[in-house]
Amino acid sequence: MTTTAANQATTTPAISLRGVSKVFETSSGPVHALQDIDLDIEPGSFVSLLGPSGCGKSTLLRVIGDLIDPSEGDVEVHGKTAAAARKARDYGMVFQQAGLMDWRTVLRNIELPLQVQGVGREERREKAREMLKLVKLDQFGQHRPRQLSGGMQQRVAIARALSFQPKVLLMDEPLGALDEMTREHMQRELLGIYQETGTTVVFVTHSVSEATFLSTEVVVMSPRPGRVAERITIDLPRYRNDETRISDAYFAAEAKVRESLHSVLDETRSKA
Ligand code: ADP
Ligand code: MG
Repeated sequence: MTTTAANQATTTPAISLRGVSKVFETSSGPVHALQDIDLDIEPGSFVSLLGPSGCGKSTLLRVIGDLIDPSEGDVEVHGKTAAAARKARDYGMVFQQAGLMDWRTVLRNIELPLQVQGVGREERREKAREMLKLVKLDQFGQHRPRQLSGGMQQRVAIARALSFQPKVLLMDEPLGALDEMTREHMQRELLGIYQETGTTVVFVTHSVSEATFLSTEVVVMSPRPGRVAERITIDLPRYRNDETRISDAYFAAEAKVRESLHSVLDETRSKA
């Protein structure tokens, strides 16, 4: 049918994983970090990878970002191999530690990836200022990273990752080191940035509430070997705020995610 063809044409995935496995050879034998992962992520979605420690979340993110090679299987990002996507600077990456350079000002930290790309001084400064505004730190461009709070430093790291307008933002527990108040604040900020930029986000967390509040879809993973246990579509409006956190729809979605995670944990315990 023509409608099917049209649908296919408009839904080329941002990220497509086929039969992805990753085995680490260690002194105590092979570790099956990922086994047979099939996953399509639509452009513009916010997908959280959720699961207990050691279930392969970081490994999956690193495979997507071409930081490590899978042992088996294929990764495509907007139809390119992961290596080609990385070369084309399709990725922005943010980790738990902001990883800023203290001998550079905040503004010059954000400029760094553009500088590496050879973008001229004026242009990269202008872009960095724009990004600083996006993360609401316009007043802090001339500060040193250590003069900022943990939450602010993480916002700088996000600004830096977005400076070259990546198609895909890969985030590994970016809010994990923050206290709860700062964390909730940052979740709202991150949603705002996501809504404004339309970037596809893959976000690693082990927080049920964080995954539910932020995501369009939660991928629940189970360990040993790391697999996709369940995919849960989060049926909340795209625009979310603090009201969302106390809505019935939110509680229903959160309960569903929690239940899924708990069945993974039960299964893991019975295997141990
Ligand atoms: P998560 O991020 O969900 O906590 P990881 O992806 O970090 O899980 O790890 C998945 C599994 O792979 C764990 O058992 C971990 O010990 C193992 N692993 C991860 N990286 C390596 C590595 N470089 N060498 C050996 N084992 C690793
Ligand atoms: Mg991890």
